[in-house]
Amino acid sequence: MTVHDGNGWTRCGRGHRHWGRHGAAGLLVAAPDATGRATVLLQQRSWWGSHGGAWGPPGGARDSHESELHTALREAEEECAIDGSAVTVHGVLRDDHGGWTYRTVLGCAAGPLRAFPVSEETKEVAWVPVDDVASLRLHPGFAEQWSALRAVLMPVTIIVDAANVMGSRPDGWWRDRAGAADRLIGQLSRLAFDGVTSLPEPIDAPELERWFPQFVVVLEGAASAAAADEAAGSCLRIVRARGSGDDAIAKLAEQTEGRCLVVTADRELRGRCEAAGASVVGPRWLLDLL
Ligand SMILES: [Zn+2]
Repeated sequence: MTVHDGNGWTRCGRGHRHWGRHGAAGLLVAAPDATGRATVLLQQRSWWGSHGGAWGPPGGARDSHESELHTALREAEEECAIDGSAVTVHGVLRDDHGGWTYRTVLGCAAGPLRAFPVSEETKEVAWVPVDDVASLRLHPGFAEQWSALRAVLMPVTIIVDAANVMGSRPDGWWRDRAGAADRLIGQLSRLAFDGVTSLPEPIDAPELERWFPQFVVVLEGAASAAAADEAAGSCLRIVRARGSGDDAIAKLAEQTEGRCLVVTADRELRGRCEAAGASVVGPRWLLDLL
C-alpha cells in the first residue's frame, strides 16, 4: 500500500487538468452559528497553489486504498484541523467529469468546530454564512456544484412506523413482537451504515450518489420491549412511545428540521404527517432496501 499514491495530475474527459490520479474528494460541513444562522466551513487556497486565492471546501486527491469518505475527512483534518469524529456524514454528491470524479461528502456538526489553516496549501479557514458563499471567489468546481449542495446541507430524517412496517411483512412477527422489532432494528442499522442511493419520489431534493439518513424507529406496545439499543454515534435512534405510536410519530414529524420522510401505510397518520410538512412513503419502499 503506497501512502498518498493519489498525488499527481490527470486529465478528465472534458479536457481539464485535475489534481488526483484516482479522483478527489472534499468535505462540506454545515453548522449553525451562535445565532442559529447556517454556516459552512470553507478554506481559501494559498496564492501559489492551483486556483490560488479561491474558496472551497477542504479536499484533495484520493489514494487508491481510501474510500471517498475517508479522503474527505482526512483532508479536512490535514488542511483545517477539523475533528472528523464531530462530523455526522449524511450524503455524497458525485461530480463525474468522465474518467475523473470529484465527490463532495456532506456533513453537519452541532456548532462551528474549531478550525485553522494547517497545511501550506491553506491560506485561511472560515465558517461562512450560507447566504454569503456565492459572493466569495469560489473554486470553479465548487461554484458549479454550489446550488445543488446548498439544497442538501441538512440531513434527511426517516421516521419508521415500526408496527406498520412489521405488520406488512408476514414473518411471524405476531408470535414475538419484541423479537421482530429487534430484527427490523438490526436491518435498519445496517442500512443506516451503508446508506441509500435514492429517496422516494415525494422527497424533493437534488440527486446524490448516496444518502446517509438519520433513522428514527418508533416502537409501541409489546414491540417496545425490543432489546436493541442504538450504538453511540450511529444514525439510528429508537423512540419507545409511552402512549400511541401514531401520536409520537406525528409529533416527531412536526419537530424534525430539514427533510423528513415517514414510512407508514396508515392513512390517518399519513394525513397528519403530511400536514406537518413531512413526506410519506409506504413500507414496501423500505422493505425492498433491507
Ligand atoms: Zn474535469
